[in-house]
Amino acid sequence: MKNDKTVAQPFRAASPAGLKACATGLLLLIAVFASAQTRPTLKIGVTLHPYYSWTANVVGTLPGYEVRSILPGEVDAGDYQPRPEDIKKLMDLDAIVINGIGHDDFITPMIKASGNKKIVIIRVNESTPQIHAAHGSGVNSHTFISFTNAVQQTYAIQKAIAALRPSDAAALQANAADYARRLRLIKARAATALADAKITRVVTVHDGYGYLLQEFGLEIAGVVQPQHGLTPSAGELKDMVALLKREKIRVVFSEETFPPALLKVVQDEAGVQVYTITHIASGAYTPDKFEKEMQRNVDTMIRALVTPAISNKAA
Ligand SMILES: [Zn+2]
Repeated sequence: MKNDKTVAQPFRAASPAGLKACATGLLLLIAVFASAQTRPTLKIGVTLHPYYSWTANVVGTLPGYEVRSILPGEVDAGDYQPRPEDIKKLMDLDAIVINGIGHDDFITPMIKASGNKKIVIIRVNESTPQIHAAHGSGVNSHTFISFTNAVQQTYAIQKAIAALRPSDAAALQANAADYARRLRLIKARAATALADAKITRVVTVHDGYGYLLQEFGLEIAGVVQPQHGLTPSAGELKDMVALLKREKIRVVFSEETFPPALLKVVQDEAGVQVYTITHIASGAYTPDKFEKEMQRNVDTMIRALVTPAISNKAA
């Protein structure tokens, strides 16, 4: 607003005072352009795949930004061991987007080791309501597998970046709003379809879907993995089969990485249908990864929970 005034004034009066204002305005304009051209790239790191997608969409095609993944794409954060070459990637960062509630605890010692003291830490979970983990007493750190949280946390990232680059605030806001609109559309379509779900209680192999299922009013009767990424013992598997039978669960959502042999036991002994969903934890970092994989997840959920019920009714 202040800039508009400075620029508009010179055209109104050609008095000496006006000319002076004109010169000042011109200098100001030159300074603004010069700083836009020479301003250093704002480097923003991310620890998890969804954070890459969200941040990349917030900065969009604006010049002067770099979004940088710290972990190699193929490594799930749950199995990650810090490497010196990854610590190097933190040294010149201006900011980093982190989970901060258990999914990337390795990052704090890494930042310390990098010697980067000016880095701004963007904690996306700061104002996100959290649910607890299925096993144990901790919180479920997978807040990112949720449309609602993705929208809220995208705005949190946008706000934090705008504070570092106030001149881009409006553009960053427009980008975030655009992205949020697309996410809400996927969610709205899925919610309409899932409103007809006849199956509303499921078991998941991985404890990563509490937030996603909750936002569609679906319930988790149990989680197969005893801990994050751990394979269940024979005894735990037996208990799970018993639970599936007792609670008459018909659908299990599994992971690509879960051992097929164990899955077969569950399938054969409990007579459930198994569908694979993803918690967006590995692969290439791309701006559209989150949208694509979440679309796939809701499509799978619809196929698993709505379609069989409809065909059963028809039969
Ligand atoms: Zn996980």
